[in-house]
Amino acid sequence: MKNIIVDFEYLAPNTVEEALKLMDKYGDECKVIAGGQSLLILMKQRLVTPQYLISIKGLSELDYIDYDDKKGLRIGALTTHRSVEKSPVIQKEFSVLSEMEHNISSVETRNWGTIGGDIAHGDPGGDPVPVLIALKAKLKMTSLSGERTVDAEDFTLDYFETVLHHDELLTEIQVPTLPPNTGVKFTKFSQIAGDYGLASVAMLITLDEKKETCSDVRIALGGVAPAPMRAKKAEDILKGKKINDALLAEAGQAASEEASPTPDVQASDEYRRDLVKVLVKRVGNEALARAKKA
Ligand SMILES: Cc1cc2nc3c(=O)[nH]c(=O)nc-3n(C[C@H](O)[C@H](O)[C@H](O)COP(=O)(O)OP(=O)(O)OC[C@H]3O[C@@H](n4cnc5c(N)ncnc54)[C@H](O)[C@@H]3O)c2cc1C
Repeated sequence: MKNIIVDFEYLAPNTVEEALKLMDKYGDECKVIAGGQSLLILMKQRLVTPQYLISIKGLSELDYIDYDDKKGLRIGALTTHRSVEKSPVIQKEFSVLSEMEHNISSVETRNWGTIGGDIAHGDPGGDPVPVLIALKAKLKMTSLSGERTVDAEDFTLDYFETVLHHDELLTEIQVPTLPPNTGVKFTKFSQIAGDYGLASVAMLITLDEKKETCSDVRIALGGVAPAPMRAKKAEDILKGKKINDALLAEAGQAASEEASPTPDVQASDEYRRDLVKVLVKRVGNEALARAKKA
């Protein structure tokens, strides 16, 4: 069978408002395209066949990175992976975001693909969402009837399903300023460098004033459940304690039990659970070292 995209009408609005009006007008018959790195694959496979394709790539009002040490970081949804990776302020204040972006696919994909498109795509193995969950980020969505914001951990509902309504655009990623004595680390385990991970772990650790006890911790897992998730039982094992290897191993075990991976051609569910166990310990040690240096 020929791998040909089904015909569609291409629309290129100049503003967010114009885009939202088109989305409202065409409803289920339309699809928004940003960098096209995920959507075009689905269209070539004819899994998605919109009658109208609304390109938002040119909406420069959603392409920005702003940082203020009180308000935190704001990233417009149309900011490319490459811009996030290379942003000096992100490298300085949220190096984990820059590191995560550096390991997404190739430079070509990172130059086209947007952070908002990655999040909106709802792939359970996508890299940005676990990091954003660890960072306590919020995601802003906009429609003609207004704006709403959800915690990053509540955004993805299931495989490729998110809380976005058909008439809504994801418009902004909001990351609060990191508290003192905080370290954050993300690692994915991929078969091919830069590819989606078989499993990924993001961890944020905040230490007390003496830098001895863990006063706050967030553990987010990717690729091991229908949606990125927090490992709350694992977090409880570390909270209020002096973190050491034994505790991290216990937390890794708990996280691997909280995960609910689906076996596929790449890895069994047991293998993915084992990865979680190993990664929580490894990532935890690295986040802890960063928190001590912060
Ligand atoms: C070879 C390859 C390897 C990859 N490896 C990784 C990887 O390791 N980790 C990883 O995280 N990603 C990976 N990706 C995915 C890539 O990062 C995403 O394809 C890309 O970021 C999606 O962004 P986009 O702008 O291209 O979105 P598009 O493909 O244009 O859109 C994706 C989906 O999001 C919707 N959408 C886009 N923007 C918005 C918005 N602002 N509001 C509402 N809906 C929106 C579209 O309608 C569509 O459903 C890989 C992609 C390729 C091609």
